[in-house]
Amino acid sequence: MAQRDYYETLGVGRDASPEEIKKAYRRLAKQFHPDRANGGDAEKFKEATEAYEVLSDREKRLQYDHFGHAGPQQEFNFGPTDFSRAREAFDEFGFGSSWNDVFDAFFGEGIRTTRTRQRQRSRAQPGEDLEYRLRITLEDAALGTRMKVTIPRYAVCSSCQGSGREPGTGATACPACQGRGQVEYHQRTMLGSFVNVRTCERCGGFGEIVSSPCKHCSGQGRVQEQSRLTLRIPPGVDSGSRLRLKNEGNAGRFGGPAGDLYIMVEVTPHNRFTRHGDDLRLRLPISFAQATLGARLQVPTLTGQEELHIPAGTQSGEVFKLKGQGVPHLRGRGKGDLLVKVQVVVPTKLSARQRKLIEELGREL
Ligand SMILES: [Zn+2]
Ligand SMILES: [Zn+2]
Repeated sequence: MAQRDYYETLGVGRDASPEEIKKAYRRLAKQFHPDRANGGDAEKFKEATEAYEVLSDREKRLQYDHFGHAGPQQEFNFGPTDFSRAREAFDEFGFGSSWNDVFDAFFGEGIRTTRTRQRQRSRAQPGEDLEYRLRITLEDAALGTRMKVTIPRYAVCSSCQGSGREPGTGATACPACQGRGQVEYHQRTMLGSFVNVRTCERCGGFGEIVSSPCKHCSGQGRVQEQSRLTLRIPPGVDSGSRLRLKNEGNAGRFGGPAGDLYIMVEVTPHNRFTRHGDDLRLRLPISFAQATLGARLQVPTLTGQEELHIPAGTQSGEVFKLKGQGVPHLRGRGKGDLLVKVQVVVPTKLSARQRKLIEELGREL
């Protein structure tokens, strides 16, 4: 923020006499003095006092007139001497008894209220989460499996153990901030010393400088690699299932924790079964004779075969349930069922004898 012109602050012309300047300051000091019943205005009081300090001094006023704010400030040395001088000047106006309070209010409070304490920034950064798409068969999804996969990810650099520093070398404290990670800018004014704290630009707030970065990882603390992992797929997963492997994502940097690895499951379509939740469905072709007379049939399941009893007079499209022959519930106990939908197959090619028999049956029916 640009500093306000001193003449403007005091509300006087550039040709104001020392007497006018004194009068103007007296008026403002009375108006903004912090001891006033309404609390005054500390900022404006400070501003006015600073302007008065310069414009009431012949030497400083001359410099200010020529160079503006940039000129005289280089020569200023606001210290205790100046304060006592300001105090003398101020005492003239009859605020003597309260000056100590004013002094304390500005000098003491100034430091406390403008200093912001920040902790040194840590170099440690957490690693990123990773996603891996895994295609598996319906059998593997239903029964669970273990499989080895290769996943490209960042791993902690084995050479520097993640520090990013060449082995055997240490980090040196940042010379710009002496390892504190932040720099204090002191700003002194007539009525207070103000401290601004900023993040050190030299070291980015980390407080240290790595003089010899690790050659293996270029100082990154981690390297990209193809990691072989054994995944354990629990029984019951389905397309869209997401498995979280904690800390198996990218390695963190400079001691930060690793991210997580998410396995996104995709189940490939099966040539026999279709899945509906944890139930499986199967179409089973049967002959006209089997449907009519009833039959005991071997039905394929995920793990082998099961016997299914078809009663006599079964209609095409009827559904039979093989309990517990579906997919295990991923959460909780139990399994889905295998639903068998029978389909009576009408023969399209008949031998002469078959044709004769069916014609005979047709007449009977
Ligand atoms: Zn390294
Ligand atoms: Zn620094």
